[in-house]
Amino acid sequence: MANSPVGNRDLIRAINRSKILNTIKSYGLIPRAEIARLTGLSPATVTGITADLIQDNLVFEKEVGDSSGGRRPIMLAINPHGGCVVGIKVMEDHALGALTDLEASLLVKQSFPLTDTSPEGVSLAVGELVVELLRLSANPLSSLMGVGVGLAGIVDSGQGIVCQSPFFGWTDVPLRELIQNRVHVPVYIDNDVNTLAFAEKWFGAGQGINDFLVVTFGRGIGLGIVVNGQFHHGLRGGAGELGHTVIRPGGELCACGKRGCLEMYVSEPAMLRQASEAFNQGQLASQPHTPEELVALAESGAAPAREILVQAGQLLGQSIANLINIFNPQCILINGEGVRAGRWLFDAMRASIDEHTLPSLRQDVSILVEPLGDDAWARGAASLVLHELFESPINRQRDSEIA
Ligand SMILES: [Zn+2]
Repeated sequence: MANSPVGNRDLIRAINRSKILNTIKSYGLIPRAEIARLTGLSPATVTGITADLIQDNLVFEKEVGDSSGGRRPIMLAINPHGGCVVGIKVMEDHALGALTDLEASLLVKQSFPLTDTSPEGVSLAVGELVVELLRLSANPLSSLMGVGVGLAGIVDSGQGIVCQSPFFGWTDVPLRELIQNRVHVPVYIDNDVNTLAFAEKWFGAGQGINDFLVVTFGRGIGLGIVVNGQFHHGLRGGAGELGHTVIRPGGELCACGKRGCLEMYVSEPAMLRQASEAFNQGQLASQPHTPEELVALAESGAAPAREILVQAGQLLGQSIANLINIFNPQCILINGEGVRAGRWLFDAMRASIDEHTLPSLRQDVSILVEPLGDDAWARGAASLVLHELFESPINRQRDSEIA
């Protein structure tokens, strides 16, 4: 079908529709003639497709400016209220949901406990959370354009399958289908770090940047990869397992079954474990039970606490330098709950990045440490749906052909 004349015509129209939508989104307010000039499409094509977009409520017309005696120019803009989307971050014992408009602005959010963590239990909870968010926002089900779900683990987003979930012990669970059977709208799933990368690209520091990496630092270490404007998932969605790159062969045993993984030395649990050892050996006066307590000890002058944070920062910086040398990105965005580790860790990380990155690549890249909250992860999951809405079918097809 894809190669038939009708199939080609539909595909070309879908590509043109995506080009026009993205142009309107990029420029905010834009006249039809300017869309035709920027996209290289004929005025007739632009008129036809924008008529459909207006009909679908995705775009609206607005008269602006001074008429100077003549007709006032008619501009087009994205209609943020043309529909709504839901994003959900699934965590170990609860799910956080966000309902946003078509510009990813948060309208309502809600947390939901996960008591049953079987695939059926989680999909049931996600379905109930979607209904609750629609009720809270007073939006009808008919306005819901899709649901995006982010969770930790290896997620094959093209197939909609959770290949491996460290929290729930799942293997090859068709989560997208299970949720879709409950909510009856398009559902998209992805690794939670990737949903955060979507958030950065859609409404965060990654807007307008084609090559950037998102490093999440907290309980584990994750990586979201955007290359040439596209999200890189790898063959089965497993790209970005930075936390399980081996930095000490034969080192500490990781939950993944291998030894010497980065997150056995740099994550928050790893630093607290090291602090506990220092306390047991009498080097620390008290035992910190949270990252905040460890930072407070460092601030109060406890040298072993500082040493733990500095060492973790050095190792994290070394890994990020390797990434810069491989990807040559314009920007590295570091977030996750671990950003509370503060200056001891991040000063050491920056020094280590400077030391280990090729100088000509270091000068191009900006490093941003951002304290984004859980909302951003859930809004990121919502952006999964928006991304699909705006994405060119060319890129979408490429994904499914490879899968
Ligand atoms: Zn590991």
